[in-house]
Amino acid sequence: MGVNLPIYLDNNATTRCDPRVVEAMLPYFSDKYGNSASRNHVFGWEAEEAIDNARDQIANLIGAGGKEIIFTSGATESNNLAIKGAAAMYRKKGDHIITQITEHKAVIDPCKRLEREGFRVTYLPVDKFGRVSAADIAAAMTDKTILVSIMAANNEIGTIQPLADIGKLCKEKGVLFHTDATQVVGKVPVDVMAMGIDLLSMTAHKIYGPKGVGALYVRKKDPRVRLEPQIDGGGHERGMRSGTLAVQNIVGLGAACEIARKEMGEEAKRTFALREKLHRGIADRLSDVHLNGHPTERLPGNLNLSFAFVEGEGLMMGIKEICVSSGSACTSASLEPSYVLKALGVGDDLAHSSLRFGVGRFTTPDEIEYTANAVVRAVTKLREMSPLYEMAQAGVDLSTVQWAAH
Ligand SMILES: *Cc1c(COP(=O)(O)O)cnc(C)c1O
Repeated sequence: MGVNLPIYLDNNATTRCDPRVVEAMLPYFSDKYGNSASRNHVFGWEAEEAIDNARDQIANLIGAGGKEIIFTSGATESNNLAIKGAAAMYRKKGDHIITQITEHKAVIDPCKRLEREGFRVTYLPVDKFGRVSAADIAAAMTDKTILVSIMAANNEIGTIQPLADIGKLCKEKGVLFHTDATQVVGKVPVDVMAMGIDLLSMTAHKIYGPKGVGALYVRKKDPRVRLEPQIDGGGHERGMRSGTLAVQNIVGLGAACEIARKEMGEEAKRTFALREKLHRGIADRLSDVHLNGHPTERLPGNLNLSFAFVEGEGLMMGIKEICVSSGSACTSASLEPSYVLKALGVGDDLAHSSLRFGVGRFTTPDEIEYTANAVVRAVTKLREMSPLYEMAQAGVDLSTVQWAAH
């Protein structure tokens, strides 16, 4: 089979920069090196034109206007600016924020900081598929609620949240709605108008653009959202985010959005088909394989599976030539089971034996076939050495076994 090793299947952690994006960026490293804030000469104008073009390319992908796009260093910064910036700006109106427990740390940690500064934060639980409902959010709202922050899709389990329902509720209640849409933008259609989104975070490196650049959509009308800047100096980006714009990176983000807008439909079909092929290629040949996350309301390229009677480290060792993640990239440095899987009610053993496969633009059918075979082989081998698996196969109900204490 024609595959080159290693195989990259970690596209929820980051993606390869599309060669067309690199091509678009190159002139801005060499000939077109102006500062977009230089108003007096052609270098500045050229850079500014490129920035404005990128704003439109980004806005077109999410149903926004170009002037509503604020450039940042990535989704972590966008989330910080949205959450801390809104909290500080609307503090007189209220001190309560609603989010949920499977958010990325780039949302959880700013919320934690705000709690230390005297805000109240509700972290809603999720159902077994990782979803919250607009009804849960409505029940948590008080007349002091100023912001709801719910991610569009989860980076570990791929579960997509009911954004339009939540947006509608927030509009009715006059509460700002922020979504960390990092995993969804460019993969699944998002429309800030139709979905009632006031603030939206995104990053280039999850959509085949460069690392170190992102954007925050900030609604200009109905309502006009204002944010307290988190970085001062120079007054760039309507005063919300100072600092010389990273022109070449922004051009890359714009190009990535333009490609995504044109190719998203086809690409989603292709990544979905490969994800299903991988799922079937594993689950049809192995027993006791559990899907984590929602069966249908999930990102097309995301597959998260747990393998009973297998130890996670051993499994990762057994498929070394395949680059996947156990839990999210952010938690895999520690041996804590993923807090996202825990939130779904997945037990520690199954959480430890979970693998996240992220199918992407450059994944091939041969790579999927190779991966399915490798996983089946590795799991089968580990189970052959597992006394627990042997007992389970012999019909012993493991939950009733009395283990000797040591
Ligand atoms: C990757 C990711 C982030 C962080 O984005 P950076 O651009 O790396 O800061 C935030 N939220 C989600 C859901 C992500 O997947």
